[in-house]
Amino acid sequence: MNIADSEVVASILSPYYSITELLSDADLILLNTCSVRDNAEQRIRKRLRELASLKKKNKNLIIGLLGCMAERVKEQLLEQEKTLDFIAGPDAYRSLPKFIEEATLGKLSFNVHLSEIETYDDIEPVRYDGNGVSAFITIMRGCNNFCTYCIVPYTRGRERSRNPKTIIEEAQNLFRKGFREITLLGQNVNSYCWQEKEQTVDFATLTEQIAQISPLLRIRYATSHPKDISDKLLYIMAEYPNVCHYIHLPVQSGSNTMLKKMNRIYTREYYLERIKKIKEILPDCALSTDIIAGFCGETEQDHQDTLSLMKEVGYEYAFMFKYSVREGTKAADKFKDDIPEEIKTKRLEEIIALQQQLSLESNKRDIGKTFPVLIEGVSKRSDRHFFGRNPQNKVCIFLRENHEIGEYVTVKISKCTAGTLLGEMV
Ligand code: SAH
Ligand code: SF4
Repeated sequence: MNIADSEVVASILSPYYSITELLSDADLILLNTCSVRDNAEQRIRKRLRELASLKKKNKNLIIGLLGCMAERVKEQLLEQEKTLDFIAGPDAYRSLPKFIEEATLGKLSFNVHLSEIETYDDIEPVRYDGNGVSAFITIMRGCNNFCTYCIVPYTRGRERSRNPKTIIEEAQNLFRKGFREITLLGQNVNSYCWQEKEQTVDFATLTEQIAQISPLLRIRYATSHPKDISDKLLYIMAEYPNVCHYIHLPVQSGSNTMLKKMNRIYTREYYLERIKKIKEILPDCALSTDIIAGFCGETEQDHQDTLSLMKEVGYEYAFMFKYSVREGTKAADKFKDDIPEEIKTKRLEEIIALQQQLSLESNKRDIGKTFPVLIEGVSKRSDRHFFGRNPQNKVCIFLRENHEIGEYVTVKISKCTAGTLLGEMV
């Protein structure tokens, strides 16, 4: 999400600045921040201290802070961090040229106002750091779900969907420029909804319209909230081979007590029913998830429920976190962060170890299978090999031969690790 936002910012500033590879050459440094977990903020504070020395060397250097952290800490950060010239929240990026001008006059600025309508829909992002093959398209901003542990609804504001016309145009332009894979982004893409006059476009319809651009354009999306993932979408995924059979469906916990306390709206049983439906309609669909270890009041049994749910689903991949209190959230106000650090660590380690095993088992099941793979680049470990991903989002490594980045090839899997499939082109 932050990469996609940085691409919007690069577009807004493109009349004034070009991108440099070298930090020491920069006249403007923008830090795009995340507040979802505490360690992200700690890293930004450290980075700001490192940048102070660059500012001593280059008196004209302007440094700005963007994104969620800007929203959370507001003006107090301008007082605490003398390196900063301005702070702009996620809905204030159109003001950046003005802020930069003010900074050249020695004036500090900040704007953390959250909008109910800003979707940057007319701005074509500059894809400055990609591989020329895969790109993100933000289709909605904000979130209305208010999971009790989560800061996002406070830092990114209310949910708003972008006009489908501009999304489809952006996808068509990317395809014309040679991009072959698009990931539709939003905190909760399944509740995407655009209404105009009599017409309503939901996420399933939007996905179908983008899938029709070309069978050579792959579509992925993230993130899905279990409460909103519809059968209609699953059937569209089954109908269009270019909509990848991969769903990121964060569960957070396998315990109904925790799910209720987290305000996730669904139960373990409902979640498992959704998984059953996915596997029924899309038997080869890969699944990944997000899990929080050690939420307030989590018992050993709650933790065991998470492990058993992971086994039952057999996730291909998971993003796993220790719970960290975010000030201003309901959990911070109402519940005690009462799980000792060492227990959080132990539970997280158990979750990671189990996921490692599940990922390896899933990859082993792919040995002998063939997949269509989109070539994304040259392998980091060996320039004789390409890497790309199969529809299930698994990284595949294979010998280069006479092919180009951006082409589709068929790869037969012969070996694997927990993180990668290795194979040969057939
Ligand atoms: N909108 C997405 C994800 C948003 S944040 C969703 O609902 O799934 C990404 C992940 O960060 C969350 O899924 C959650 O697992 C994790 N997360 C959010 N707040 C957290 C907190 N306070 N402590 C630990 N992990 C957190
Ligand atoms: Fe946060 Fe929940 Fe919204 Fe995801 S759905 S961004 S976890 S509040």
